[in-house]
Amino acid sequence: MGQPATCSAGKPGAPMSVDAARLRAEAVAVTVSETETLPLYMALDRVLADATAAHSALPPFDNSAMDGYALDSAALRGKGPWSLTVAGRIAAGDTGGTALAPGCAARIFTGAPVPAGADCVLMQEAVHRQGGRIILDTLPAPGANIRRRGEDVAEGARCLAAGVALTPPRLALLAGCGLSAAIVRRRVRIAILSTGDELVEPGGILAHGQIYNSNRVMLRALLAASWAEVTDLGILPDDPASIRGAIREAARGHDVVISSGGVSAGEEDHILDALRAENAALDVLKVAIRPGKPLTVGRVAGALFFGLPGNPYAAAVTFSQIVRPTLRRVAGLREVPDTWIPAVAAFAYARRTGRCEYVPVT
Ligand code: AMP
Ligand code: MG
Repeated sequence: MGQPATCSAGKPGAPMSVDAARLRAEAVAVTVSETETLPLYMALDRVLADATAAHSALPPFDNSAMDGYALDSAALRGKGPWSLTVAGRIAAGDTGGTALAPGCAARIFTGAPVPAGADCVLMQEAVHRQGGRIILDTLPAPGANIRRRGEDVAEGARCLAAGVALTPPRLALLAGCGLSAAIVRRRVRIAILSTGDELVEPGGILAHGQIYNSNRVMLRALLAASWAEVTDLGILPDDPASIRGAIREAARGHDVVISSGGVSAGEEDHILDALRAENAALDVLKVAIRPGKPLTVGRVAGALFFGLPGNPYAAAVTFSQIVRPTLRRVAGLREVPDTWIPAVAAFAYARRTGRCEYVPVT
């Protein structure tokens, strides 16, 4: 996110650029170090603490990618067509470990173990079945339609890197590699509070001069992540002692405290005074952003503090540009969030017509 050319950031005493403020906030953010072991069923979207090794190879044995016939391509001599006796039938889940009868083909189904002695599987559409025999016209390539043991993940290899969120496909990958639990970082403890004498909770009755509190529900919604645990401290009046007390209490029991309102320089803006009274280290005081210039970032009693401006749009913008990326750092997330990027593949891919294809790439 580049900085607009017209902004004054960089001059002495001028607001920090958005990039500088975010980098500063990220630099002082401390990643939660405690971890917990969770069954996969409880671990959705939690942050993996360490690189995780596969207990079992994926797939765990050579298996058929097709419904068809397993055979030994080396046994097909001379010119085709060839005819083979079908001996044996192997389905997914067969654990017998059968071997291919010499000179024969075995009926096989998708996911079934490839019998010893077979080096390829012919899809059933590629052969003519005549009673107990199959006829084939083209010589199959060795290895065709066999998914090799460990071709997705070798036994003991890293299946996921530290710092990834456990999305449903990643949970499936861990399960496929034989893991039933994951070691994840504990949730980030976040306290939120709204300041302003004018605020009334929606549903209440407004006196002249009062407005409804928009930021509380917005912050709760913005923080609705599996890796976050939010304490909602409600509305605080524009009163220095109450604000200072609330910040001190919240900083004690949380990794992060987020307030809205009261960060400007007006006489009814008490956040900065409260932070100074609590000996906070103030890292960001003003940002060259519109809206949201008075965004405050600091550290108080071991907690990271964000003082968002009260204007809901300003709070939303500063949250998305500075708070969210910093919170991801605190949570231990190391990946950039998913985005759609048009790209040219560095490989050839034979696309089948009539289907919209989704191909995993790195
Ligand atoms: P402040 O940052 O406290 O100076 O507030 C800036 C503007 O945002 C004022 O008009 C406030 O009334 C309004 N405001 C502050 N907090 C909230 C809130 N939680 N919900 C909606 N508006 C707010
Ligand atoms: Mg205010």
